[in-house]
Parts: sequence; structure tokens; C-alpha cells
Amino acid sequence: MTVTEHCRNDFIDNLLSITNDYTKLIRIISYVFRFAANCRFPESKKFGPLKADERVRAENSLIRMVQEGKFQEEIKDLKRGKGVSNKSKLSSLNVFIDENGILKVGGRLKHSKLNVYSKHPIVLPTNHILTTNILVYYHKKYLHLGAQALLYQVRQKFWPINGKHNCKKVIFKCITCAKNKAVLTSQIMGDLPTDRVTPNHVFNVTGIEFDDFETLSPGHFLIGRPINGIVEPLLSEIKETRLSKWQKITKFSQSVWKVWKRDYLCNLQQQYKWKFKVNDVKVGTLVLIKNENLPGTKWLLGRISELFHGKDNQIRVVNIKLPNGTVLKRNVRDVAILPTEN
Ligand SMILES: [Zn+2]
Repeated sequence: MTVTEHCRNDFIDNLLSITNDYTKLIRIISYVFRFAANCRFPESKKFGPLKADERVRAENSLIRMVQEGKFQEEIKDLKRGKGVSNKSKLSSLNVFIDENGILKVGGRLKHSKLNVYSKHPIVLPTNHILTTNILVYYHKKYLHLGAQALLYQVRQKFWPINGKHNCKKVIFKCITCAKNKAVLTSQIMGDLPTDRVTPNHVFNVTGIEFDDFETLSPGHFLIGRPINGIVEPLLSEIKETRLSKWQKITKFSQSVWKVWKRDYLCNLQQQYKWKFKVNDVKVGTLVLIKNENLPGTKWLLGRISELFHGKDNQIRVVNIKLPNGTVLKRNVRDVAILPTEN
């Protein structure tokens, strides 16, 4: 890279860092050109709102500068009258340089009745800030299109290399789209608590407090004894002929639990959902708080202020600080992370 090329690339980077609004950038460059022209030709000074030809000139200059930086080899080859090298990403596009010095797609639609921009769209480099700004401009102009539709609209005038991938990237980073299709976070499934993996009678472990005065309850019928009755000894190894009628019923009940342990309990090993961590949250992460009664765009916005881990060291609960200072405690699966630059 020569010193001139290096300076030009620095200049373009500085120019593109002024704003990420494509139309605003074109306006700024147009006014700079007008100022330069007014200095050179004071007798024919221009005033007032920008004219269409001034904007087109500014846009062409900007695109030409970016293309000269990114497609140096291709432009050199074309200016020498040679075709583009087979190794180039542009080799399949039959590119040419138009009368304004802009690299365009030659393509195979020369004889179609499409307008001149659609027939010969302007080539844009992949992963370049100008390409991103143009895609963002179209994405917003056409009310937050999806990747395929966005690419179709952009290709009416531009041909971004690796277009679908770049469109997806733009949509992934769009806050409005993120709010409309909020992806909730999730953690891997937790270990089952002891009470759920130990054979036991129904209601033996419960959050309900039973009072001192015993009454006949459904529990008596379900477990065959009072709720606070002593648990029967293990009878599975004793022959039935040695057992009383009650002990035979107890033995049968115990054999059911044995089958439960052998055939059902092992199935709980597998995690059927929440197999992976999705969007692992951190303190300071900007999130939307799920509210099933409202659309995603109306969900409250907050910042994670504290994390609470389960026994398996996975994040299960989070505190979220709202803009008004209120702190809400929520299950981690009820928050959706907003895309940010970092
Ligand atoms: Zn969007």
C-alpha cells in the first residue's frame, strides 16, 4: 500500500465516522462540495437547499472512493482492458466501470426492461461500514424488512458482496427488530430436587401445614394410612405366605415404587428443553422484561443489577434495575437481552 492509498483510506474512515446515517452523510459531503465550488467560482455561488444533481455527485464520489480502496486490483485490471481475475469475488458478476468511474455489475440482464440501476447495480464491498450504513438505511426506509426482502430492495440499486449475510447482521443488531422478536434467555435444566427422585407416598412432602385434629382426608385413601403414620418396613424380600393381608398390600405398593425407580426415574436424566445457555446474562446487561399481556415493544427496559445462582452454579434469578430506580426480581428465563455493540 502506497502513502497516497494509506492517506485516502484514513480520509474515508474519518469521513464515514462522522455519522452512520447514510442520507445525512451524503448531505454533508454535498455541502462540502458546494463550499469548495463556491470558493473556486465565487461568481456563480450556489445557495439554498441541495439539488438532486449535487447529491448524486456526492454519492458517486463517496462510492468511488470506497471502491478504489476495496477493489484496487479489479479496477486496475479493468482500466488496463483486462477482465477481472478468476480469484476475485467479482469474477462471476461481469463487472465494468461506468462513465462516472463507478464499478457496476454487468450481469446478464442487459436486454431486460429493468431500470438502469437494477440492470447494473453498484458493487459494494462486504463487511464495510458504508455497506452497513446503506443496508441500515434501506432496512429503516422499508419499515424493518427481513433479510431476503431487504436484499431484494437494496439490489434495486446496489449489489453488496455477500449480501444475505450482511443483511442478517444488520437485522440482528437492530433494536426495533430485537424488541419485536425478543429472544428470552435460558439456562441449562437444573438438577431435580431430592424429594422428586426419592420414592415416597403422595403428600409426604408438601408445602401444606396439617393441623393436630385428624380428619379423614383423600390422603388416607391414596396412601392407605394416616398422613403422619409410621412408614411400613421393606417387605419385598419376604415370601407372601408369611405376610398378613395388610402386609401383602404394602409389599405390592413397594414393588410399584421399585418399578418406578427402575423404569421412570432414569428417564429424568435427559434434558428435554433448555439444553444450552442462550444469551448468558451479566451484571450491566440491558434487557427487556417479559410481560405476556403486552407485545415485545412495550416490555419494560432495565439493566441487570444482581445475579443469583442455583446449586449447579447456573444463573436462575436476576435483579433488574429499572430507569426509575425500582429493582425487580425475575426468573432469568423472563428476560430478553437487547443487542449492543459489545
Ligand atoms: Zn429492524
